[in-house]
Amino acid sequence: MLATFSLRDPNFIDACYIVASVLFILGIKGLSHPRTARRGNELAAIGMLIAVAATLLDRDIHNYGLIIAGIAIGAAIGAFSARAVKMTAMPQMVALFNGVGGGAVALVALSEFHDRIPSPGEIPLDTLIPILISCVIGAVSFAGSLIAFAKLQELMTGRPIVFPGSKFVNAGLFAGIVFLVIYLATGQESEGLFVLMLGAALVFGVLLIIPVGGADMPVVISMLNAFTGLSAAAAGFALDNTSLIIAGSLVGSSGTLLTVMMGRAMNRSLANVLFSGFGAAPKGGAAAAVDGDREVRSASVNDVATMLAYADKVIVVPGYGLAVAQAQHSVRELADELEKRGVEVSYAIHPVAGRMPGHMNVLLAEADVPYPALKEMDEINPEFQQTDVALVIGANDVTNPAAREDQASPIYGMPILEVDKARNVVVLKRSMNPGFAGIENHLYYEPQTVMLFGDAK
Ligand code: NDP
Repeated sequence: MLATFSLRDPNFIDACYIVASVLFILGIKGLSHPRTARRGNELAAIGMLIAVAATLLDRDIHNYGLIIAGIAIGAAIGAFSARAVKMTAMPQMVALFNGVGGGAVALVALSEFHDRIPSPGEIPLDTLIPILISCVIGAVSFAGSLIAFAKLQELMTGRPIVFPGSKFVNAGLFAGIVFLVIYLATGQESEGLFVLMLGAALVFGVLLIIPVGGADMPVVISMLNAFTGLSAAAAGFALDNTSLIIAGSLVGSSGTLLTVMMGRAMNRSLANVLFSGFGAAPKGGAAAAVDGDREVRSASVNDVATMLAYADKVIVVPGYGLAVAQAQHSVRELADELEKRGVEVSYAIHPVAGRMPGHMNVLLAEADVPYPALKEMDEINPEFQQTDVALVIGANDVTNPAAREDQASPIYGMPILEVDKARNVVVLKRSMNPGFAGIENHLYYEPQTVMLFGDAK
């Protein structure tokens, strides 16, 4: 006789979780290339829908009204903000969404602990430890992400905030949290101490991120994203939810890899990002950028137009200024005009150009620049020597030859786009002000370089 099938059958729910997990993995794989990113995002979203639906089938859920209200409010806020957000504000939106993920994990841990507290000493260790870990990491991620959001949104100063003895305070707080975790894990299951641990983790999250300069936030956000993933995976163990374990591990590992890769592309360690106060104030600043002895040649729009019209090969080098000016559509139109005249146009993409990973790819994709025209640093660098004009649009640090030549430079060792090897270099920016790293760019004083001052658009 056939067994009666029930949607609430735990085997069916597990099967749904496996399908969802496969979709998450395919989704992440899709995100590895701009051409497949949209599809990857869709697959991951379908996976999430299946995982949420399967979770709602759980026999232990009794109050569907509250859950539906929560979903409705969350979905409305999410959909509205995703549509309204400006491209340049994307990093802070990611910070905010990441933060609420961490906060949700911490609350789940708190409620699990609360539910189980009537039987102290009886929470199995393999449940209790994940509850404690997910609470601490989730709370750190929540508080840290809110600070990252506030800095990027300019709700607070973007400068590093350091007070005397801050490192000792942080170390003491960290030690206190570790002590509480161990104390609670050894069977001293007091709800008061649990809340104290949660509070300490929130304060630690704030203190960990306030000494980081606003401009370093994307690296920090990627790190906090990894934290949220790890806390979600730990919550998955506490709740015995396979899908959460897999999704959390994916976010944790991809966030960690991204953090490492961003650090490498800037030639900086995570410790340097977290503790050095990089980007505190312009080092040297605008005044230092103007060197009295060396000349900067400025060109007019007509000069540049003539130069471009006579070129055979042009490489566009976009940077953060392109995002600020929202010049991506104008760049595309310019490239179309040049291509009509038989000029070969390609785009050089530095891995940390802009303020978030893939910033330039997203902007140029928005303007329908064909993907094959976007070339990564290693691929395009050998081409600069045969290039008539390198058109640097709002990029600064990622073109600075000091990274190659000046051992004293803070960006020494960072791989750069070798723009200075082109026959002519045109730099579009508004002033001689430095970029993110706050240092002057020797490229601007090279004989083959002309500056076209003004808004990039
Ligand atoms: P930079 O920050 O070095 O320079 C941007 C330049 O754009 C400035 O010099 C500015 O000059 C110019 N600019 C600003 N607004 C406009 C405008 N409206 N029109 C024209 N120009 C404008 O940018 P890069 O992209 O070269 O380098 C990125 C930097 O950010 C690197 O140092 C990288 O390490 C760092 N970073 C990147 C992250 C990422 O994930 N991508 C994460 C964290 C840091 P002016 O004011 O004179 O116009």
